Amino acid sequence: MNKTVLITGSSKGIGAATAILFAQKGYNVVINYNDSYESASLLCRSLVSNGYSVMTHKANVANKLEVELMVKETLYKFGSLDILVNNAGISQQAVITETSEIDFDRIIDVNLKGVFNCCKSVIPSMVSRQSGKIINISSMWGQVGASCEVAYSASKAGVIGLTKALAKELAPSGITVNAIAPGLIETSMNSNLTIEELSDFVNEIPLGRMGSADEIAAAIEFLASDKADYITGQVLGINGGYVI
Ligand code: NAP
Repeated sequence: MNKTVLITGSSKGIGAATAILFAQKGYNVVINYNDSYESASLLCRSLVSNGYSVMTHKANVANKLEVELMVKETLYKFGSLDILVNNAGISQQAVITETSEIDFDRIIDVNLKGVFNCCKSVIPSMVSRQSGKIINISSMWGQVGASCEVAYSASKAGVIGLTKALAKELAPSGITVNAIAPGLIETSMNSNLTIEELSDFVNEIPLGRMGSADEIAAAIEFLASDKADYITGQVLGINGGYVI
């Protein structure tokens, strides 16, 4: 039986690139989205028309009940859930004095509690099979902190803490938990940056360019594969040398 992967926030960007790669590698793929119904449906239709096994499911990862329903539907449709990629995320740039409590809660709810909700829903079925792989998408800002992104940096540092704790907790059950900490990746998340801001940023990246969503997807696929069976609790930085 083919393995099944649930990728949160895969209507676009890194998540969409990951969904395409896993579908091409023969996995059953669940494309989760919250707002972007059209891009999720378009992606699903194009993969299904190429013969791949893919479904979409709308769920706000910050909402425990919606996540539970998504996991139930996945298990019903595909019979197992082997890999969870916690990728859904939002960002906001503002100095702390301009960051409202509502903004802070919203970012933590999606970026950190969303990971908690998805792990909590998926883990019982993984434990019962004594196998599974969880890959959490953090950020280099969770490692080193970004000025004007206190809420985002805190949420992504939280994801790293969660990854390390959960890796220890789940290792005896044969489940690995790792994080990826991307640097500047070319997706709509950075569309608010001006050409000048992007160019200044890129000038500080030793490899001299932004990363692509496909490059992150390839690392996720590696961590989900048997080749990564002895890797757990790690944070893989993919940032062109910006954070070493
Ligand atoms: P993106 O293009 O903006 O995509 C974000 C994805 O998250 C979308 O599919 C979006 O789906 C989904 N999402 C947002 N809120 C959600 C919610 N409440 N429930 C479910 N899905 C939700 O951004 P990206 O660059 O691909 O980001 C993917 C991940 O990589 C994020 O965790 C981000 O923090 C991280 N990351 C990105 C960069 C970068 O430079 N791009 C760097 C470091 C880390 P809908 O539109 O359907 O809501």
